[in-house]
Amino acid sequence: MNAKIKGPIAIYYIKRRIGAQREVFSVKSKTYDVVIVGAGPAGLTAGIFAIRRALKIIILHDPGCRPTPNEATIVDDWIGTPHITGTRLMKKFRKHAELMGVPIEGEKVKGIEKAKDGFRIIGEGGVFEAKTVILATGAMHRRAEVPGEKEFTGRGVFYCANCEGPFFRGKKVLIAGGGDTAATYALLLHQIGADTILIHRRDELRAVESYRKQLANSKVRIIWNSIIKEIKGGKFVKSVVVEDLKTHKLTELPMDGVFIAIGSVPMSEMVKGLDVKVNPAGYIAVDKEGRTNVPGLFAAGDIADNPTKRIVTACADGSKAAEAAYMYVQEKKLMAGKK
Ligand SMILES: Cc1cc2nc3c(=O)[nH]c(=O)nc-3n(C[C@H](O)[C@H](O)[C@H](O)COP(=O)(O)OP(=O)(O)OC[C@H]3O[C@@H](n4cnc5c(N)ncnc54)[C@H](O)[C@@H]3O)c2cc1C
Repeated sequence: MNAKIKGPIAIYYIKRRIGAQREVFSVKSKTYDVVIVGAGPAGLTAGIFAIRRALKIIILHDPGCRPTPNEATIVDDWIGTPHITGTRLMKKFRKHAELMGVPIEGEKVKGIEKAKDGFRIIGEGGVFEAKTVILATGAMHRRAEVPGEKEFTGRGVFYCANCEGPFFRGKKVLIAGGGDTAATYALLLHQIGADTILIHRRDELRAVESYRKQLANSKVRIIWNSIIKEIKGGKFVKSVVVEDLKTHKLTELPMDGVFIAIGSVPMSEMVKGLDVKVNPAGYIAVDKEGRTNVPGLFAAGDIADNPTKRIVTACADGSKAAEAAYMYVQEKKLMAGKK
């Protein structure tokens, strides 16, 4: 706990924490008011709001999949902490949730089923029961689905320049994509000192104006109207074959690294059996409070079909979903009392 917090507030936090830990030890035998899946900005905020409503909750998160802000070298748009690394910001979020007594357990969720009084959440290590579920599992990087991509993933093919970019100082790298992520990756790798090329399937980037300007003023080379056809190498990546979509000409470029930044796909596999409404891209359809079409199931953050995918919007979604889950649990209690 923060050493600066003293007196009754400190005692309050310690009691909450001990209470939360007790819950975690007996977790698998209990039914929860809310199970939150995901410990990113959306899930942790939902946890804080739900615990303040005295709901019996637990956050389950995949320990092999870090929350996305860890990929951000610098987060400049989270108010109150300008110029903070994504990893540091996430540490602060998690610590805050733990201080509030939010129980957080490493558990990859494989499926969610309907049960008599809510939902059954099937994790790799156990089964959990809950009246409501808040899905806050975010989205993962879309794959280019080209020969060599799978084979060289981790051996020259990567999806996070903020994570692996620093290994490419003085090397040749290719970034695929045309949005904000691709633009930031290209600028970062260029700044690191890599010989950087950006490849985009169209003749204009989708990235915001400021990134486009920075790229135009940098030495990053852009290959327009082209795609990656194949990634080749031995133990590691050695070259990339690119296709010009206008002329269909194939060119093989010597390359040390490839960063794929062509969008993301929602992590919604686990609710496939629940008939949840999704948009054409697979993101979960929610109303303004984070309710899905399945009663008792809520979604928050990048997994939901909200247009803005940022930390601040994920947190806002998490808070609203927790409040909606609270209302749902209260209504169920009232209904049960009337019977
Ligand atoms: C390179 C990069 C830079 C970015 N920079 C910024 C920025 O500067 N500012 C900004 O506002 N936004 C930024 N973003 C976007 C921001 O990171 C996301 O919008 C935000 O993290 C979404 O939060 P979330 O809680 O919905 O999902 P996530 O942060 O992705 O968290 C998902 C959670 O779900 C868990 N999970 C996934 N699957 C399972 C499963 N099967 N079982 C259990 N748990 C599971 C994961 O372990 C994780 O804890 C950036 C994104 C990227 C990729």
